[in-house]
Amino acid sequence: MRRAILLVLVLASACLPIVAQAQTETRITILYDAFGNDPAMKKDWGFSALIEIAGKRILFDTGNDSDIFAANVKARGIDLSKLDFLVLSHRHSDHMAGLGYVLSVNPKLKIYAPREGFGIYGSSLPSSFYRKDESLPPQMRYYDGSPPEVMKFGTAWQGANFETIDKTTEVAPGVTLIALVSDAPGTRELRELSLAIDTPDGIVLLVGCSHPGIENIAEAAAVINPKIHLIVGGLHLVAARDDVIASVVTALKDTFKVENIAPGHCTGEPTFAALKQAFGTHYIYAGVGATFSVGPSMTSGQRRGEAPTLDENDWPAYRKLATREDPFGVVQWRAKKQHAGR
Ligand SMILES: [Zn+2]
Ligand SMILES: [Zn+2]
Repeated sequence: MRRAILLVLVLASACLPIVAQAQTETRITILYDAFGNDPAMKKDWGFSALIEIAGKRILFDTGNDSDIFAANVKARGIDLSKLDFLVLSHRHSDHMAGLGYVLSVNPKLKIYAPREGFGIYGSSLPSSFYRKDESLPPQMRYYDGSPPEVMKFGTAWQGANFETIDKTTEVAPGVTLIALVSDAPGTRELRELSLAIDTPDGIVLLVGCSHPGIENIAEAAAVINPKIHLIVGGLHLVAARDDVIASVVTALKDTFKVENIAPGHCTGEPTFAALKQAFGTHYIYAGVGATFSVGPSMTSGQRRGEAPTLDENDWPAYRKLATREDPFGVVQWRAKKQHAGR
């Protein structure tokens, strides 16, 4: 019964701030991943997240399967026609396959993607890059010997509004795309964008797969603001050895002093365990369907250190209960108590 009273108090104090917070706070929703506890969301390998900050809505990656991505977007009631821009972290299909669906809803959406020579997002080169031989007859020469000054190479999504990025760029006030290149065997020269948002609480850093190395990405983010408030996304340690995992966890915790971590996607199960142990209540659960606000006292299961976080799924049920006359049986309980006391 005491719990019921507490719940009423929690609801009374929490209802108003939650509405207000949605306008001003940074809020992140995980739309695609292979783990999660929300039965309304489909699980699949890949990553996507929606970031809402200061009235802006940024989509980061689009998952591994267009149909699953569409289903998860609909399950969360997200309107993709109202986005400020999309960031595609890198060209791996588990981050891009939902792009067709995004474009079907929002064909003119601004899309930031890594710049790659002959990449699928489209590219260009000055025609001076190739050697000429003027002794050849025109029919043996490229463009009959008169090439365009700039040669354009196509994209897999013709007509899409791509802007390709090859160096770290602030694309909106306080919103920076960190551009790095992987040096790891298997993904050498793969370019990847990470999204760093400079909030009053420090950097909120979204990473797709961290192919260039999470330590390198964190180092680049720390140049913008040495206080890293939160890292969300895949750390690419899915098959890493324990000693490698331990050294990355130590670097994040002790070198970069990352305050909160919300790992997902290719972070890996043993790394989830190691991060949970290292970050404790500052490990934010980020399975598919998870929504969390970013703020000063961000800890897992807590909101501002005042009250337990109510899962987004709990709200409809609580609201329904709250419309009843005696939602949690408190009136009935008091009446009984008074009766017994007489
Ligand atoms: Zn990848
Ligand atoms: Zn991936």
